Amino acid sequence: MKNLVLSIILILSVTFVSAQKTYILCGKLVDTKSGTIESKKTIVVEGNKITHIHKGYVQPKSKNDKVINLKDKVVMPGLIDMHVHLEMETSPDRYIERFTKNDADIAFNSVNYAKATLNAGFTTVRDLGGSGVNVSLRNAINEGKIVGPRIFTAEKSLATTGGHADPTNGMSKKLMGDPGPKEGVVNSVEDARKAVRQRYKNGADVIKITATGGVLSVAKSGQNPQFTIEEIKAITETAKDYGMHVAAHAHGDEGMRRAILGGVKTIEHGTLMSEATMRLMVKHDAYLVPTITAGKEVSEKAKIKGYYPAIIVPKALNIGPKIQGTFAKAYKAGVGIAFGTDAGVYKHGENGKEFGFMVEAGMPAMETIQAATVTNAKILKMENEIGQIKPGFFADIIAVNDDPTKNIHTMENVVFVMKNGIVYKK
Ligand SMILES: [Zn+2]
Repeated sequence: MKNLVLSIILILSVTFVSAQKTYILCGKLVDTKSGTIESKKTIVVEGNKITHIHKGYVQPKSKNDKVINLKDKVVMPGLIDMHVHLEMETSPDRYIERFTKNDADIAFNSVNYAKATLNAGFTTVRDLGGSGVNVSLRNAINEGKIVGPRIFTAEKSLATTGGHADPTNGMSKKLMGDPGPKEGVVNSVEDARKAVRQRYKNGADVIKITATGGVLSVAKSGQNPQFTIEEIKAITETAKDYGMHVAAHAHGDEGMRRAILGGVKTIEHGTLMSEATMRLMVKHDAYLVPTITAGKEVSEKAKIKGYYPAIIVPKALNIGPKIQGTFAKAYKAGVGIAFGTDAGVYKHGENGKEFGFMVEAGMPAMETIQAATVTNAKILKMENEIGQIKPGFFADIIAVNDDPTKNIHTMENVVFVMKNGIVYKK
């Protein structure tokens, strides 16, 4: 018995001593909290956490430890995209695929989209709506079965009948049926509460509503308000009971006004936002998730004959190009900006393009990186775990070749990716 105890102690102490550390030598390191770039630092990673940050280049004492040389790179925390759709990617066949693809097909595709996202330096994303496969995707990534970012998922978006996320829009009446709260379609305060609780039951982390019409749904208006303020309040209040915040897709001004007054945390797109609504955003501490890339890409695709159903084309041409201009005004008006791209509406893995578009619209480069790190971490209530390179935080670490304050397009070419202490790209 004594021998057994001794050998257990021996095994434990050997395990403890040999716990491997990784020393990352950083030529430049972005401090996202202060918005400064420091030179010559060493990050020490143990398990899935950052344990130390040393001045200068520090070599490990034990030969078990690993060294990663990023002396000619600019290192920063893993990026966070607040608006992706990992279940889908744009294609002219997309509207037919609703009738031909099974969940398993969607799942296999999403594996590649998740990998492309992580390789682009996005170690955390908010998936704002799919069929529910995104919940399984999150779980499989968390269990280490497949490679991808940390996912906060809305599962299925909530809509009203005929609204932007009504899954049966554009179908024949025979196929339409009458989707309800279980399918994410609500038409009353009671429905609204049930739909949120159903999302919780299905494994969602956040709630997404489509507060106005949208560009890519088979419906006439891309901007009309589609929820009453009472329905929105019922959604945000119920979501709060389950520790979830609410994101609202909105292009039209009246729908976003109702969303903000109803307690929504983030406005997605915000295309036709008035100055009065911008002031309301500031007052209610709501954030704009601009998705400029999606607006631009959708209006480009709309010029290709037959790419989208005819009803979508005028909406895409009219709404898409306006997003960047509204973003510029909202930023100047002091509206909080959260980084998000709507990847899926365009090719996954190109999320980094958004930085360039934000800078082009007048936001300083460092602030765009802060939007994609500390700001998004705060909205996800993860500000003490992700978004900074700091002892105690998850080891989500990426690197680019150039100083992004001098060349923002370097963000489109992430050359090193570590998530949770595991290197995925170097
Ligand atoms: Zn979206």
